[in-house]
Amino acid sequence: MSPPTTSTVIQRHIRSDVRAMHAYAVQPSDGMVKLDAMENPFRLPEPLRTALGDRLAEVAINRYPGSRNDDLRCALAQHADLPEGFDLILGNGSDELISMLSLACANPGASVVAPVPGFVMYDVSARLQGLRSISVPLTTEFELDEAAMLAAMAEHQPAIVYLAYPNNPTANLFDDAIIERLIEAAPGLVVIDEAYQPFASRSYIDRVARHGHVLIMRTLSKFGLAGVRLGYLMGPKALIAEIDKVRPPYNVSVLNCETALFALEHADEFDRQAAVLRSERARLFAALSDLPGLHPYPSEANMILVRVPDAASLFGALKQRGVLVKNVSTLHPLLANCLRLTVGAPEENEVLMSALNSSLEASLR
Ligand SMILES: *Cc1c(COP(=O)(O)O)cnc(C)c1O
Repeated sequence: MSPPTTSTVIQRHIRSDVRAMHAYAVQPSDGMVKLDAMENPFRLPEPLRTALGDRLAEVAINRYPGSRNDDLRCALAQHADLPEGFDLILGNGSDELISMLSLACANPGASVVAPVPGFVMYDVSARLQGLRSISVPLTTEFELDEAAMLAAMAEHQPAIVYLAYPNNPTANLFDDAIIERLIEAAPGLVVIDEAYQPFASRSYIDRVARHGHVLIMRTLSKFGLAGVRLGYLMGPKALIAEIDKVRPPYNVSVLNCETALFALEHADEFDRQAAVLRSERARLFAALSDLPGLHPYPSEANMILVRVPDAASLFGALKQRGVLVKNVSTLHPLLANCLRLTVGAPEENEVLMSALNSSLEASLR
C-alpha cells in the first residue's frame, strides 16, 4: 500500500473544525501609520537600546531557560504587588496562558462564559480545546448585562468566566459592583484580564485576595513589549500550581525573559510612555468628539472605539491616506459602524486626525 497523499492526511486526520477555520490574519502595514493593534508607538531611547543589546549579548542562548525565569517571576510579582499566598506563571503572551487555562479545565462538558463584544481568544481557545463557549452580549452602553451573565452562569456552570478589565474593543472598565456580584455567583474560575492595566484608572489586584477562585492575567504587550511575547497569570498558589502542569516546559525564551527583566528595571521609562499615551488619549477623544457624526466612547485603555456614519468607507479612506486602524464593525452587532483607533504617538495622532478630517470632508462632497 502506498503512503497517503497530503490531501488524504488533511481530510482524514486534521479535525474538521480546524479545517473550517481561518488562520489569524495580520493586516499588512508596511509604510502605514499603524494604529490597529494597541501597540506602544515608542521605541526605547538610544542608550537603553544599546544597554539592552549588551545584556542580550551575554545571554547563554545555547542553554534551555533556567532560573532566570524565576527572577522574572519575582520582578513581576513586585511590579504587580502580588498578594500574600498568590503565585504567578509566565506565558508566551497571554494567548498562551488562555490556552493553558482551557487545556487545564477541559473536562467533558466543560464550558467558558465571556461577554461580547470582547477579546476573541477566549472563545477560539475554548473551542479548540473542546470546551463549549458561551458569549453573553453586553448592554448597548457596553456594560456587563448582569442578569444575562448570571443566567448564563446558572445554566452552563462554566469552568471559567473571562472578564477583560478594561474590555477590548470597547475600552471601558466594567462596573465594579456588578463584577463583585458575578464573582460571588461564579461556580468556577474567574479570570480578570488586565492587558490594558498601564492605561486604566483601576485594577482588581487590590481586591483579588478576598477570593480563592479569581485569577488576574496581565501582559507586557500593551506596556510596550508586544514583540517580546510575555504574559503572566496570578492566582492562589495551589490553583496556579495546577495550571502550571500544562505549561509547555521552556515556554518563555531566554531572550524574552532577559528583555522583560531589563524593561522592568527601566519601568520608569515605560511609565513615562504610558503617561504620554494617556494624555494623548484625552486629546484624541476631545478632537474626535468635535468631528460631526463621530461618537467616541470613553476609554481606560490605549484605544478609542468610535462610532462613525459608515465604518467600511471611512476605514478605506483612512487606509488610502496611509493610516491603518481596525474596522471592528462586523465583529458584533453592538459594534455596527465602529472603528477601533489605537492611541499613537503625538505626531501619529495628528496624521490620524487630519486623515479623518479630510476623509469626512470628502465623503460630504
Ligand atoms: C491585547 C490583549 C491581550 C494580549 O495578548 P498577548 O498574547 O499577551 O499579546 C490580552 N487580552 C486582551 C483583552 C487584549 O486586548
